Amino acid sequence: MRRPLVMGNWKMHGTTASVSELLDGLGGLDAPATEVAVCPSYVHIPQALAACHGTGISVGAQDCSHAREGAYTGEISASMLTDLGCQWVILGHSERRQYHDESDALIAAKLAAALDAGLSPVLCVGETRDEREAGDAESVVAAQLRGALEGQKSLAQVTIAYEPVWAIGTGLTASPAQAQAMHAFLRQALAGLAGEALAAQARLLYGGSVKPDNAAELFEQPDIDGALVGGASLKAGDFRQIIQAAGPRG
Ligand code: PEP
Repeated sequence: MRRPLVMGNWKMHGTTASVSELLDGLGGLDAPATEVAVCPSYVHIPQALAACHGTGISVGAQDCSHAREGAYTGEISASMLTDLGCQWVILGHSERRQYHDESDALIAAKLAAALDAGLSPVLCVGETRDEREAGDAESVVAAQLRGALEGQKSLAQVTIAYEPVWAIGTGLTASPAQAQAMHAFLRQALAGLAGEALAAQARLLYGGSVKPDNAAELFEQPDIDGALVGGASLKAGDFRQIIQAAGPRG
């Protein structure tokens, strides 16, 4: 049985005051069946770690460097994140692929660095609207999966997030059936890369305009094990409702 995971991606939002308010709003969560994590901007990570201590909410980053250490001005290494107390790192988010030209090879190097440092990576894959309309959605996500995961030492700590680019921050959501079909495809592709046993236990998150009113039907799908939530994770009330919708299941 895979434990659902609901993770908030706060992107480049927040001030010390608003982050404090948001974290206060997540206090007293009672959702033992669901794992909950938040990924603030780098500068708010220590604040989030302090506020989440003892709450059961874990903390991650939205990216990390491919390099272990050295002359990489402006970069943050994976081991710096584990040293702080982070558990997670989001890698290959479509906004990184789009605005920072991140290639599958670079994402693979970041993933290796994250695993070496003891972080649990959440690898994002997803097709654009044009790619879906051209009938290429499966081949695109399969190539992204292979490009990041092939040749990695171990995939046991890796979570996959299927985030169709056309659904991120747009208010459009993949229908539960569309999302389930892609998740089933991804699990099969993962089995080809890492074996049936690992694929059966890997958590596959859906991301793309998840909201309180669409979360439950997404979470009912057998291969959807939680969500990576952007906009709605910035509102404590909405995020709490999404967490409640994730479990317990079945
Ligand atoms: C995201 O950025 O990972 C995301 C899913 O955003 P949103 O929920 O706002 O679509």
